[in-house]
Amino acid sequence: MNLETIAARASHYLDPTTGAILAPIQPSTTFERDVGGGYPTGNVYSRVGNPTRQQLEAVLASLEGGDVCAAFSSGSAATATVFQSLSAGDHVVVAEDCYHGTANIIRDIFARWSLEATFVDATDLEQVRSSIRPNTKLVWLETPSNPMLKITDIAATADIAHAAGALCVCDNTWATPMLQRPLDLGADLVVHSTTKYLGGHSDVLSGAVIANQDSEAFNKIREIQGTYGAVPSAFDSWLVLRGIRTLHLRMRAHCENAGQIARFLSDHPKVEAVHYPGLPSHAGHAIASEQMKDYGGMLSLQVVGGAEAALQVAAKLNLFTRATSLGGTESLIEHRASIEGPGTTTPDNLLRMSVGIENVGDLLDDLSQALG
Ligand SMILES: *Cc1c(COP(=O)(O)O)cnc(C)c1O
Repeated sequence: MNLETIAARASHYLDPTTGAILAPIQPSTTFERDVGGGYPTGNVYSRVGNPTRQQLEAVLASLEGGDVCAAFSSGSAATATVFQSLSAGDHVVVAEDCYHGTANIIRDIFARWSLEATFVDATDLEQVRSSIRPNTKLVWLETPSNPMLKITDIAATADIAHAAGALCVCDNTWATPMLQRPLDLGADLVVHSTTKYLGGHSDVLSGAVIANQDSEAFNKIREIQGTYGAVPSAFDSWLVLRGIRTLHLRMRAHCENAGQIARFLSDHPKVEAVHYPGLPSHAGHAIASEQMKDYGGMLSLQVVGGAEAALQVAAKLNLFTRATSLGGTESLIEHRASIEGPGTTTPDNLLRMSVGIENVGDLLDDLSQALG
């Protein structure tokens, strides 16, 4: 089935008892056992499995072309679970331009449990290859990256990981399966913050891990999910399913608007640099064109005049709300260096934009007046 059809029919289900065309939200924490002590429906207890969550997991797996999915209460819970599935003394290679929360999870939490990590410029395959150690178990990618929109060649990186007997994991939050399917390109696990484009309306926090087959790595993730219970509620699962029903249409609009804004900004005298993989001048444009169907709704710009000038532009905008996060229908803008804090390598004149699905003329007018 095509992705648009899978998305549009997410949560569609014919209820034989009521004739309803949507699956109900199932809040029950527990399920009746039969007289012999068995579980006739397969449902036991909602930490381990809940019908609404399972429906979300099935839709996410099919969108990513995978077989199995574990849904979590946030993207960060999904990320932490992947690292938790490793052992003390294991080594991971991580793209240095990954989501700062992912780097914090590795540096601040898992380092205490003796997980070794090397952060690399993942766009440089030689650096990835030379960082591999005998105990390397996982290579973590995020492409396009945050907030520099760097593009990593997923297939080539997966080859390097596999040659070392390691897993290749790709955080696909920014591209979504509508634009990029890492499992098809050789990745072993896909991670999502479904808080972003999949939920799509800035109203639900959740995450997921998807795998190609019922692999040993995925089984550990499933076990941690059910044992720790960092799972989305039935209502949150339903909200993500509801968001997914328009994912294909929203992504088309996000890409269209972001492309026009990127072109506008790259011609503007007050803009020092625009980072958007859809621009032919972008260093990752050729790889992005091969591994993505379109270039996404995220872009970063560097403003002439430093941090002060960048903050002033953000302050003057009316249609771009100054807020973190991304992937909702509304446009957001953020000065990244200040949220990432001390030690960040993000340029201090950089603003990251989550381009929404408003009328693009309105967004361009707003940018025009703010840049002056
Ligand atoms: C937001 C985000 C996360 C973290 O997800 P939460 O749902 O906020 O925990 C991870 N990766 C990327 C790329 C993100 O944008």
